[in-house]
Amino acid sequence: MERSYAKNSKLQEMAIFMVKPFVEEGITEICNTLLPEKLVVADLGCSSGPNALLVLSTITNLIDELYKGLNQHKPEIQFFLNDLPSNDFNNIFQLLMLYRERVKQEKGNAFVSSYIAGLPGSFYGRLFPLKTVHFFHSSYSLMFLSQVPEGLKGETLNKGNIYINEESSSIVSHLYFEQFKRDFSLFLKYRSNELISGGRMILSFLGRPITPNYIGGLMHLWGLFSEALKAMVFETKANCEVHLTMKIEEVLHMVGGYGETSYANNSKIQEKAIFETKPLVEKAIKEIYNTLLPEKFVAADLGCSSGPNALLVLSTITNLIDELYKGLNQHKPEIQFFLNDLPSNDFNNIFQLLMLYRERVKQEKGNAFVSSYIAGLPGSFYGRLFPLNTVHFFHSSYSLMWLSQVPEGLKGETLNKGNIYINEESSSIACHLYFEQFKRDFSLFLKYRSNELISGGRMILSFLGRPITPNYIGGLMHLWGLFSEALKAMVFEGLVEEAKLNSFNLPVYTPSMEEVKSIIQMEGSFHVIHAQTFESNWDPFDESIDDFTVDKDLSGENVAKYLRAVAEPLLSSHFGSDIMKDLFTRFAKNIARHMSKGKPKHFVLVIFLKLNDEIPKMESIVGVA
Ligand code: SAH
Repeated sequence: MERSYAKNSKLQEMAIFMVKPFVEEGITEICNTLLPEKLVVADLGCSSGPNALLVLSTITNLIDELYKGLNQHKPEIQFFLNDLPSNDFNNIFQLLMLYRERVKQEKGNAFVSSYIAGLPGSFYGRLFPLKTVHFFHSSYSLMFLSQVPEGLKGETLNKGNIYINEESSSIVSHLYFEQFKRDFSLFLKYRSNELISGGRMILSFLGRPITPNYIGGLMHLWGLFSEALKAMVFETKANCEVHLTMKIEEVLHMVGGYGETSYANNSKIQEKAIFETKPLVEKAIKEIYNTLLPEKFVAADLGCSSGPNALLVLSTITNLIDELYKGLNQHKPEIQFFLNDLPSNDFNNIFQLLMLYRERVKQEKGNAFVSSYIAGLPGSFYGRLFPLNTVHFFHSSYSLMWLSQVPEGLKGETLNKGNIYINEESSSIACHLYFEQFKRDFSLFLKYRSNELISGGRMILSFLGRPITPNYIGGLMHLWGLFSEALKAMVFEGLVEEAKLNSFNLPVYTPSMEEVKSIIQMEGSFHVIHAQTFESNWDPFDESIDDFTVDKDLSGENVAKYLRAVAEPLLSSHFGSDIMKDLFTRFAKNIARHMSKGKPKHFVLVIFLKLNDEIPKMESIVGVA
């Protein structure tokens, strides 16, 4: 967008180039003295344009160069892009995807591996657990104060100006300086807590020379701006709002934001699963504590999406750790929590919720509560997300039934014609192709998590599956079958092209517990400590356990509504957004009709895993469904 920071940050880019030699020196020193296996780097105040990636690429290129020809493993880089929570992180994560593609093409697989997270929060507060960062970089950011100096609020002091000015009283300059002193001191103090001994920090930001008659200062620049404002005050036109938004093509993601159809407002069914697995999560955390007693606890929620559920997992874990350490004569560990989802997920929304959550925790629990540092981690969980052996606990809820792609053989119009998922009519080859895709994806998931999990760590996965009981009316096969029906009716009425329906298949698969277990065994990295299943009424607002739906129309609408929050972006990218309302209305009616057969329920698989290399031989598998 014309006015976006992304398109208007040339000056800041120059600053990054200017400090490049220092960055190179700093990084080289760190590598020579600390020989880190994992290098943790943070860019503080990264903003939302390509400059954030410039710093990242400078450092990764440098590490790659440094280790070329050396008979030594390249360190893996964990890179944190920090800015305030209202920064457009969504935009950075989109750029990141393009950047990754380019790196892969240009440099191939031998290039140094980097894992990149967005870290929302003020750099005038703590951002990281103690002693966990090797290198801090900040460019063009530290001249922003944490607030307008207290004494300047109100209308009297510095009237008519928006910054220090030649006309400003000395008290104004003094207040500004004092604010900077306080802020910068805090910045230094916190970074000193976070920097690993032997680490380095490079800061560049706007200052002013002591030469007199310097015409380039901010004083002049903002003076010119004040002048423009004054003219507008005169014309009473000063009412302009700038919205920085950027729209980029999206494929799979839940409906973002907080609106009526958003995932944030329609994720009750998934919330239930989080509650259901809570006892197991508690068990996992206790086990990790008993064996590892980590000072820094690293946890990740994979496929966190953009609603309040992401924070529910986080708060469950932090509350629990806080409780565990209460009364113990021991320091509470600090928690580093990663919220992962695909890059087109609405991370901005999570980071806004996070701010509110932090406020609430501060009010309710006070300062003695366990500290947590929360980052957004964009990327597919079917790829590597973390450096080797760095995570204690993985959690993933309602996500793993999403495949990485529609099975290859199903692309095109012929196989599975007229359906969008496996159906009673689907050929056995279509079912086989779906299962094979799930097997490939889930195996990769297990392999990568086994690389990333610390020995003694735990993983809890819950996702939609299917039972082996016959006549099960709650499967995705039925649900998406009812959706296909709505689509077919629209084809019949000429509202949807038949070819469009024939060429679409959903990238989801609901395995049976037996399939899941056989894949875990075949892949070989993990051991199932516990496996269970539970059922959940299709309509999340229907809490009753009987087999009868009271208000089928209402229930149909409830179900269609949350499926819309889940699938609309994906469906509308193929069928167009115009037909969505009509389509989901028909879908709701079909669901209501289906409910006369009984009460359809989702079948959810829950598995609790640990790494294979730490199993005592005779351990038994309990509670298998
Ligand atoms: N765990 C959340 C969200 C469930 S919705 C909850 O319980 O409410 C499923 C989420 O998985 C979506 O946000 C989707 O974008 C994400 N997802 C699907 N495939 C993914 C992948 N390969 N990598 C990361 N996230 C993925």
